[in-house]
Order: sequence, then structure tokens, then C-alpha cells
Amino acid sequence: QAKRSGRGTVAFYEPDGQDDARTRLLVTSRLRRAIAEDELLLHYQPIVRVETGELIAVEALVRWQDPEQGLVPPGLFIPVAEDTGLIDALGQWVVEAVCAQAARWRDEGFTPQIGFNLSPRQLRRPDLVELIAAAIDAHALPREQFTAELTESAVLSDEHRHTSLLEELREAGLKVAIDDFGAGHSSLGRLRALAVDTLKVDRSFLAGVPEDPTAGAIVAAVLSLADALGMNAVVEGVETDAQLAFLREHSCALAQGFLLGRPVPPDEVPRP
Ligand code: C2E
Ligand code: MG
Ligand code: MG
Ligand code: MG
Repeated sequence: QAKRSGRGTVAFYEPDGQDDARTRLLVTSRLRRAIAEDELLLHYQPIVRVETGELIAVEALVRWQDPEQGLVPPGLFIPVAEDTGLIDALGQWVVEAVCAQAARWRDEGFTPQIGFNLSPRQLRRPDLVELIAAAIDAHALPREQFTAELTESAVLSDEHRHTSLLEELREAGLKVAIDDFGAGHSSLGRLRALAVDTLKVDRSFLAGVPEDPTAGAIVAAVLSLADALGMNAVVEGVETDAQLAFLREHSCALAQGFLLGRPVPPDEVPRP
């Protein structure tokens, strides 16, 4: 059922709800306007070195500043954008905004690795890599400063297109990360064959640490797996000191989570 706001206006499509066609049409037209009128913005969340707390990278996370709804999180509009095809325009906006921000930061002497998200539907676009590379080049930025984050389910699904897409991204000079690793149902055998720089361990695993020994065992196993495959690992969802201590004990190099830094507007990203 469509959610309704206090003022009785139709609110956003909910991935779990049964939205009716009218709601969807409304959200779609508002989202289209949002992209055209620059109602989108990016927040950036730190990715830090566990041992030192040093900021190593940031992840760009899109938000929608809706005049009526306020700041809308991506979980409420990315699914609509995917279903309606607006994801291409949205994705292009994100890539251009990320590059413009990277250029501003560079001019201030701040050059973190920058991750951005690509959702499954975006991967269908045949000129995706070209568009991303062109946006980076337009600002004369090093392509290797950027990490494309693709979810496990998108990448490890059967479609060969996605495997070659990873290769294309890396051939273009970008880094590639598998996002939400462990949350999907993938075969580890396929992982071995993939050209990937980083595994981002889904935060559902760390959520069980330290109470649930099974969760801890899985985090530790994914860390060794990444190590054995010569990949970096970033553990997502660090919220407590106990979780951070666990990561230290297991020699986890990189982590991300509210304890280490929330997603914030670019000016509030802590500088080294
Ligand atoms: P993601 O790529 O896995 O991003 C991490 C999400 O986890 C972010 O939610 C972040 O705020 C949240 N998070 C980080 N640390 C913690 C923590 O310690 N605890 C908890 N509970 N959550 C934490 P956000 O910003 O709401 O984004 C949700 C998802 O939306 C992202 O998951 C990503 O899949 C998608 N998304 C975000 N921005 C974009 C974008 O520009 N394009 C596309 N295609 N998808 C995006
Ligand atoms: Mg991500
Ligand atoms: Mg993630
Ligand atoms: Mg996620």
C-alpha cells in the first residue's frame, strides 16, 4: 500500500509495499523533475584504516532533497528509478556530481579514493564505461581514484555481460568493488574468475558481532578469502566499539560504519 504523508500527499514507493500505478506515475514524474532541477545531492561516508582511523576513501551516497518530503534516502527512490529507466539519468547525474566534487577536493589538496554505486539496471547500458570515463577525463582526474561499487547479486548473476563489464571498467583504469558481499547467493568459484579489487562485506554480518559467534566466523572467513584472492576487504556497518575491536583482532584493514563516520555533505568530510 502506498504510504501517505501527513498532508495527504502521495509519498514514496516502498519496495516492500504494493504500490499502485498512479503512485508510481507520480513518483516517477517527481523524480524526473528532481534530476532535471538538481534536487539530488551526494553525501560522502568515510572508509577508514582500522588500525589508525585514517580516512582512506569515501563512498558517495545519493539523497533526494524533495521540497515536500525533505531528505529522502536512496532506498526509497532507487528502486523506482530502476523500474522506470530513470536510473540512467540518475546514474549519469551521480557520476558527474562525483567527478565535480573530486575536482573541487583536488584543488584543495584532498584526493581520497572515491566509491560510487552502480545498480543492476545501469549495467545494461552499453556505453556505461565510456560515459563514466568521459566524466572523469572532463575534469582531468586520475581514473584509478574512482571505485565502481556493484552489488554481488548484480555481478555474480549468470549474465556474462556483467563479467565483461567489470573487465571493461578495470581496463578503463577504474577500481571495482563488490558491494554487500555475502548478502546474495553467489558461487565462490565465480568470484575467483572476476576482476575485482575490493570486497565490501555486507553489514548484516558485522551486525551479529560480538554476540553471535557464527556472524563473527563469517566476517573472519570473508577477510581471509579476500586476502587469499589478493583483494582488499572493507567491512561495512561498524557501529560499536566491540565490533571495531573485533576487526582489529582479525587484522581487518579497512572499515566503514556510523561509528567511524556517517555519510555527510562534502564540506563536512573530515580531512586528514
Ligand atoms: P550501499 O552501497 O551498501 O551503501 C551503504 C549504506 O549503508 C548507506 O545507506 C549507508 O548510510 C549505510 N550505512 C553505513 N554505515 C552504516 C552503519 O554503521 N549502520 C547502518 N545501519 N547503516 C550504515 P544509504 O545511503 O541509505 O544507501 C543505501 C543503498 O542505496 C546503498 O547501499 C546503495 O546500494 C544505494 N545507493 C546509494 N547511492 C546510490 C547511487 O548513487 N546510485 C545507486 N545506483 N545506488 C545508490
Ligand atoms: Mg556501496
Ligand atoms: Mg554496501
Ligand atoms: Mg547496501
